[in-house]
Amino acid sequence: MSPAFTHLPDNLELLSAEGLYRSRRVIDSPQGINLQIDGRALVNFCSNDYLGLANHPDVVWAFKTASDRYGVGSGSAHLVCGHSTAHHALEEELAAFTGRDRALLFSTGYMANLGVMSALLGRRDSVFEDRLNHASLLDGGLLSGARFKRYAHVDVENLALHLKKATGNKLIVTDGVFSMDGTFAPLQALSKVAKINQAWLMVDDAHGLGVMGEQGGGLLEYFGLNQNDVPVLIGTLGKGFGTFGAFVAGSDELIESVIQKARTYIYTTALPAAIAEATRASLKIIISENWRRDKLQKLTDYFRQRAGQIGLQLSPSTSPIQPIIIGESQHAVDISNALLQAGILVSAIRPPTVPKNSARLRVTFSSLHEEYQIDQLLDALEKAMLQRK
Ligand SMILES: *Cc1c(COP(=O)(O)O)cnc(C)c1O
Repeated sequence: MSPAFTHLPDNLELLSAEGLYRSRRVIDSPQGINLQIDGRALVNFCSNDYLGLANHPDVVWAFKTASDRYGVGSGSAHLVCGHSTAHHALEEELAAFTGRDRALLFSTGYMANLGVMSALLGRRDSVFEDRLNHASLLDGGLLSGARFKRYAHVDVENLALHLKKATGNKLIVTDGVFSMDGTFAPLQALSKVAKINQAWLMVDDAHGLGVMGEQGGGLLEYFGLNQNDVPVLIGTLGKGFGTFGAFVAGSDELIESVIQKARTYIYTTALPAAIAEATRASLKIIISENWRRDKLQKLTDYFRQRAGQIGLQLSPSTSPIQPIIIGESQHAVDISNALLQAGILVSAIRPPTVPKNSARLRVTFSSLHEEYQIDQLLDALEKAMLQRK
C-alpha cells in the first residue's frame, strides 16, 4: 500500500512560491487599535471592529455579569435546551433595530448564510450571486443544490438577463458593503429587478450594520429599503457589533422556515448566553452613539484626501474599508511586512479571497483611530511602496 496524501508538502511549497501562503499572528492583547504582537506595540488597521466595541467597558461588563448569571456554555442547540432569555431578548431587539418582524440568531455569519440558503432553496430553484460575494454566500448557494448563476459584479442588467431565463423560486444574493472592496451593492436597483421578476433579494450586510446609515441600520437604512424590498437580511455580530455570532431577519414565515429547516441552525450548539448579553450592550451603544459613525466618516475622508495628495491609487470606496490594490501577491505581502517593521498592522489580502492579480492591502478604520495615526500609516505606506519600485 502506498502512503496517502503525499502531495501535501508539494502543495504547501507551491503556495509559498506564489506568495499565497497564509499564516497567523499571535495577538497578546485585547482587540483594538493598539495590538501587542511578539512583545511589540502595533497600530492596527485591519480589524472589522469598526466601532471599537470589541473591548468596550460596557460590553465587557455585560459579558462578565451575564456569565455570573448563565455560566459559560449554552449546553445544547437552541431547539433542545440552549435558547436562553438573553438570546430571546437579543433577537427581539435585533428585529426592532432592523425594522423587521423577527430575527433569529446563528452562531456565525458563515453558518447563517449556509443555513438560510439551504432552507429556502432546493434543486428546482435558482440562485443568483454577485461575482464578488463573500465565500459563505457562494458556498451557501452551491450547497443549496439550486441552479447557481454568478452575475457580473454589481451589473443589474446582466442579472436581469439571467433572471428572465430562470425557473423555480428565484433568490438574488449579494453582500451589502462588499467586504474586500468597501463599495456598496446597488440595492435599490437590485430590489426593483427582484420585484419585476418575482424574485426575493437577500442582502448580507456584515460590514454595513452598525456602521452605515444615520442610526446604524446599515446599507438598507442608507438606501431607505424595508422588509418588503429586501425580504432576507443577514447581519453578523463579530464586526461592527464587536462580539460574535450572526442573525437573519425578516418575516415570521421566513424565520419559522429557517428554524424548521436550516441544518446549521438545528445541528449546532447555541452561542453562549453571555455573548448575547454582551451584544445587547453593544447594540445600545450602536443606537445611541452616533459620534462613532461620524468619526469613522471623518477618518475615511481624511485618509482619502491625504492619500490622494501623495498619489496613492484609491478605490471608489467611501466606507471604512479602504483597499489599496497592489496586484501581485508577493508584492502585497512585502509591503505589509514593511509596514509591520514600521509598527503598523495591515494584512495583505490575496487570491482566492480576491480575484487573481488584485492582491491588496485592506486598510480598515475604527472610530477609535485618530488622524495622526492615519498620517503614520500613510508615511509608512509611501516609504514601503517607494522601496519596492
Ligand atoms: C465576515 C463575513 C461573514 C462571516 O461572518 P462570521 O460571523 O465571521 O462567520 C459573512 N458574510 C460576509 C459578507 C462577511 O464579511
